Amino acid sequence: MSFRITYSVLNADMSALHKELDGVFVKVKGALGKEHPSYIGAKAVTGSAWLDDFNPADRRVLLGRFALASSKDVDAAFDHAHRAQKDWARRPWQERVRLINKAADLISERRQELAAIMVLETGKNRLEALGDVEEAADLFRYYAQQMENEKGFVKPLAKLSPNEDTRSVLKPWGVFVVVAPFNFPMALAAGMASAALLGGNTVILKPSEETPWTGNKLYEVLRDAGLPDGVFQLVHGGRELGAALTTHAKADGVVFTGSKHVGMQLLRQAASGVYPKPCFVEMGGKNPAIICASADLDKAVTGCMRSAFGLSGQKCSALSRAYVHESLHDEFLNRLILKTQTLKIGDPVLQETFIGPVINAKSVERYAQAAAEAKRDGKVLFGGATLEKSPGLEHGHFVAPTIVSVPRGHRLEREELFLPFMIVAPFKTLDEAIARANDCDYGLTGGVFSADKAEVERFMDELEAGVLYSNRETGATTGAWPGVQAFCGWKGSGASGKGGCGPYYVSQFMREQSQTRMG
Ligand code: NAD
Repeated sequence: MSFRITYSVLNADMSALHKELDGVFVKVKGALGKEHPSYIGAKAVTGSAWLDDFNPADRRVLLGRFALASSKDVDAAFDHAHRAQKDWARRPWQERVRLINKAADLISERRQELAAIMVLETGKNRLEALGDVEEAADLFRYYAQQMENEKGFVKPLAKLSPNEDTRSVLKPWGVFVVVAPFNFPMALAAGMASAALLGGNTVILKPSEETPWTGNKLYEVLRDAGLPDGVFQLVHGGRELGAALTTHAKADGVVFTGSKHVGMQLLRQAASGVYPKPCFVEMGGKNPAIICASADLDKAVTGCMRSAFGLSGQKCSALSRAYVHESLHDEFLNRLILKTQTLKIGDPVLQETFIGPVINAKSVERYAQAAAEAKRDGKVLFGGATLEKSPGLEHGHFVAPTIVSVPRGHRLEREELFLPFMIVAPFKTLDEAIARANDCDYGLTGGVFSADKAEVERFMDELEAGVLYSNRETGATTGAWPGVQAFCGWKGSGASGKGGCGPYYVSQFMREQSQTRMG
């Protein structure tokens, strides 16, 4: 393969890749409907209750049954994690780096199988799934490199007398609970977990209840790379299990990626204990793009379409608001609609599919509600219908990509929908566009299309969001990559101020100790 799969691949010859994937799908589909464990200590554990994992593209297909963890399992997992943590932290950091790099290589080796499972489990298309898998491997490598660059985060400090030796040493917090969302089930779980592990913490992962199979595959990768027993454990369940883990007295830290609603709850919870514990939350987005009068319209239309409708709008970085200079508004809208009409909606297993299903019935309900509100209060410019009557889509959670206009400040302009649903609105001045883009509780990503460097610089200076792009055809607001774009949520999009994929991420998973030795 002469190119690298990221979220920004356009126009590469992928025929060989697709051919190989065709065969892998046959194999993976032969393994559907089986029972899978949670992993506690080094043991595969099954109880009496199961989490059933269905294909969102065809609800009739049971992908697998996953063992739900009980409260006894949770207690046992914390005991194992604490026992394993001391030895894990005492090992030289170089060994942790070696094991995480080995796991990265295993992910790359297994990428086709991992991507095929993810397509079936999330409904994301083939390339999005391969991107997610490759991102996971690159996150492992990038975070491992951070340990190397910082020599394990031990730094000599200044002396006040000749016979003293003082160092700043970063040390693990202990046992981290990792709670992951459904939309990047490999990359986000892997990214959060690997940073914690490299820092010498042990990890209990709860994958999303929508993506337990990918969770088990990540467990297998880390186990096969040779992580010691109890260092990385995995438990299956939903909201209740997440609450049991994150409020557990033996949790030393929590790292979460998911919705603002849950993230804010975890932050409040973290502040209510007997002493503070780290709680890193990365949350949602309501991401704007500004298309200026000088913009290259082709680039702007492609970039906006890809960011709004890729992964059915279920990216935290998805574009949901396009503010277009009034001189271009109608032309932009016409071209955007024409381009959106050409998108292939269907079973994501098929090579030609761009838009798969949304994740579940709740998302379809949320979509129907949003479309009804847009009809009532504004205008539906394209789409607006659920697709349960479309031939071939009857059994899945399919909805049409949708473009609407609504009055300024409407709920649909302010709240994250996490659907293929975007607003287009005209503006007269850049001041007005920037103010409208910032008039939102979220601050994750943003994009600008302009041929005027001064306009681009104003956007970069004034947008209240952690990840900014200009003139990006492959994705106006989406497509961050480890070591390339640090992914930091501002305002209601995140609380740590240090982004995943970025240079300061790993150090958060350790606390500082100053050591002064007198000679
Ligand atoms: P979600 O908040 O519903 O669930 C995320 C995880 O939290 C799941 O594992 C869930 O079981 C668990 N959970 C739910 N309630 C809990 C509770 N009370 N206590 C502990 N855990 C609980 O989110 P989702 O639908 O899986 O994912 C979509 C959301 O994630 C969107 O808002 C999206 O923008 C956001 N997201 C953010 C980023 C980022 O980097 N900022 C990346 C991806 C997704």
